[in-house]
Amino acid sequence: MSNETVAITPALNDYIRRVSLREHPVLREVREKTASHPASGMQISPEQGQLMALLVRLMGARRCIEVGVFTGYSSLAVALALPEDGRILACDINKEWTRMARGYWEKAGVAHKIDLRLGPARDTLRDAHAAGEAGSYDFAFIDADKENYRAYYEAALGLMRQGGLIAVDNTLWNGAVIDEAVQDADTVSIREFNDELATDQRVDVSLVPIGDGLSLARKR
Ligand code: SAH
Ligand code: CA
Repeated sequence: MSNETVAITPALNDYIRRVSLREHPVLREVREKTASHPASGMQISPEQGQLMALLVRLMGARRCIEVGVFTGYSSLAVALALPEDGRILACDINKEWTRMARGYWEKAGVAHKIDLRLGPARDTLRDAHAAGEAGSYDFAFIDADKENYRAYYEAALGLMRQGGLIAVDNTLWNGAVIDEAVQDADTVSIREFNDELATDQRVDVSLVPIGDGLSLARKR
């Protein structure tokens, strides 16, 4: 027994999946088909998708934002948890990956819930602000280029309603956040984001050590 988070070995992670994972068959297909992709490590873990789906249900979220779609795993996990009239404003710049994502959304019967915007996410979020959508979203998931994390967080925070939740992926960055020898731009950006969130009084926070680290920020 300990009051510290247990280290998750691969065997313990298998156990977690065995006793708790309830993965929709199309989510499983996305994961299996993306596994051979050289960039498959960008995808969230299935237990993380399940946690995000649970949070979305718990909040009764209807209006969501996703920054970083890739082949669609996280957006599909959230879309499946939304009510019929729920929507995700999904941002990505990659046509090929999001074409695959759309195929899975269609297969799972949730494509109508996802409004995909191809283009730099900063522009899409700025357009949402310009369209008067500030304060109107319930949930956001940020998982695109790490150098823009602070910009995405600021834009998303403005778009959230009070009590809205922003989830930010990869905030442990495979442990590199505490390795001062690692000074590449992505790592530095994630550190800066984490340091800023640590004292941000506009939100309640928790850094959940699931997957590669999932920071949660609830707008006060
Ligand atoms: N959430 C996804 C993984 C996202 S990977 C999942 O769980 O499967 C990161 C994604 O961010 C990639 O698809 C990449 O094309 C996208 N991306 C990179 N730079 C971007 C930008 N400036 N604007 C929008 N999307 C961007
Ligand atoms: Ca990620």
